[in-house]
Amino acid sequence: MNNAYDGIILGAGHNGLILQAYLGRAGLKVLSLERKGVAGGGLSTLEDPRYPGFLHNTHAFFQRAITMMPWYADLELARHGADFIEPELNVVLLTGDGRALEWWTDVARTIASFREFSPRDADTLRRWHDEFVPIVRDILTWESRSPPLPPDERRRLLERSAAGRRLLAVSELSPLEFVHQEFEHPTVQAGLLFFNGLREVDLRAGGFGHHIAALLASPAKAQMSRGGTAALARALEETVRASGGEIRLFTEPKRIMVEHGRAVGVETGAGEVIRARRFVASSLNPHQTFLDLLDPSLVPREVRDRVESFEYNLLAPLFALNLNLREPPIYTAAAERPELAQAFMVIMGLDHVDQFHDIIRHHAAGTIPPTVMWGACPTLFDPTQAPAGRHTAFMWEKLPHRLYGDAANWDGARDAHGREMLAVWERHAPNLADAVIDSFTRSPLDTERSLPNMREGDLLVGAFTGGQVGYHRPFPGAGTYRAHLPGLYLCGSSSHPGGNITGLPGYNAAQVILADLGIEADWMPQPIAARLAAL
Ligand SMILES: Cc1cc2nc3c(=O)[nH]c(=O)nc-3n(C[C@H](O)[C@H](O)[C@H](O)COP(=O)(O)OP(=O)(O)OC[C@H]3O[C@@H](n4cnc5c(N)ncnc54)[C@H](O)[C@@H]3O)c2cc1C
Repeated sequence: MNNAYDGIILGAGHNGLILQAYLGRAGLKVLSLERKGVAGGGLSTLEDPRYPGFLHNTHAFFQRAITMMPWYADLELARHGADFIEPELNVVLLTGDGRALEWWTDVARTIASFREFSPRDADTLRRWHDEFVPIVRDILTWESRSPPLPPDERRRLLERSAAGRRLLAVSELSPLEFVHQEFEHPTVQAGLLFFNGLREVDLRAGGFGHHIAALLASPAKAQMSRGGTAALARALEETVRASGGEIRLFTEPKRIMVEHGRAVGVETGAGEVIRARRFVASSLNPHQTFLDLLDPSLVPREVRDRVESFEYNLLAPLFALNLNLREPPIYTAAAERPELAQAFMVIMGLDHVDQFHDIIRHHAAGTIPPTVMWGACPTLFDPTQAPAGRHTAFMWEKLPHRLYGDAANWDGARDAHGREMLAVWERHAPNLADAVIDSFTRSPLDTERSLPNMREGDLLVGAFTGGQVGYHRPFPGAGTYRAHLPGLYLCGSSSHPGGNITGLPGYNAAQVILADLGIEADWMPQPIAARLAAL
């Protein structure tokens, strides 16, 4: 194997692979190094070793609007085998008293469902949807697909247009303040925070008041990958290889090599030296990149302090219960509402907005709150994920990483907690009592073991609090995908716009690296400053 490349990427998750594919298509010879035996990171599907044919998506499953992402078309992923399903009844919140708040791909049907809870809230939803459609279309979508602007420049540009001024005004609030100010029904408030906020931002944090309105207006709905989440990883690998890229598995970097103040390669754990003529890009977290892989003498005090105070999400860690089933869950509420038999994401245990405060308190204390959980039965939409006539299903719950003060407590507590979740599930779907063939659980500690970049079990790889957003993500001075050393770049979820399967940190890093190398590419979007100036 040749051991000199134009560039080396650390970590072959989806962000690393997307960056690698774009750079390969630009004619660069790029290698990615991956510690696991399989590429894809959070794009992971495992077969139950006890029951062949039952597939489980152990990390990402609900993927927001993948088919609308620019890289999905640019990298021709459909041609490389990716295929996505977008169920119409996209999200359902089942209440304790047997009602259902429904979120459809068709906004008119969503509004009709909200009307059953509160006519005023249905009208409010319509108003925010209509007002934010152009803001999402003309501003927010493009901001997420571009290297971020310095905050002052961004504000100055946004203040020039009515849409920009509206966005700035609404974003002053926190999501919690927004729903309390705008909506009246506690279940609607809870549902909106859950659908739109809980998985992305800290609901108490100012600066995110626009988030709910933006997601109400966004055409981006939850999708799933046919054949399992890993099918997208396989398509990405194929497109990387088709562009001449190499992916080296079971390979962990020991240090990033620096010569004359510039990143020039990587030494692996096995002692191999691999040189990079033009760049090294890390999709790992800031602790790994700056503290584990760089010699301390190469990290200025100021950078070290910023990395050490980089925060991970208190509320992001997930606990998962996975089931092999004889039949899909049959929800009691479906007797009155037959459409529930085809619901995609199902939320249970959440009736009132005040539960969020309780969940936050439990996370801070390291204790387990009353169960609020969400999940799906993938085989309802994609029968290939289980043997004929059989099903898989899962539920996730947000639970603290440091259980009772120490993440190691999860290994003893895991199975009992899985049984408690199943009991809650059976209250809504009593047929599960006789339908389970096999089950297994995964804790926030298992997440970190599987993907160590998800430090503290944070699947978003960095909080959105403490100013760790946009131009200042992961921290001031590193927000444009460039680290403090020439030739060293960042391309993972710790960079703008953050975690989840968006591929946008990798997509944006590709824009920056190619621009720095003076390589033009026809897929690049119009610079964001010019776009905002033209509003
Ligand atoms: C239980 C769970 C459920 C989730 N559900 C969803 C969901 O439904 N929808 C959604 O959009 N997102 C979901 N996510 C989040 C999503 O998986 C992540 O945000 C996403 O995978 C981050 O992508 P990435 O490419 O930045 O990092 P990753 O996917 O984590 O990829 C990083 C890669 O780097 C590798 N690596 C780590 N350390 C090293 C090292 N030292 N040397 C070499 N390689 C290394 C890892 O093995 C991995 O392959 C979920 C995550 C979890 C844990």
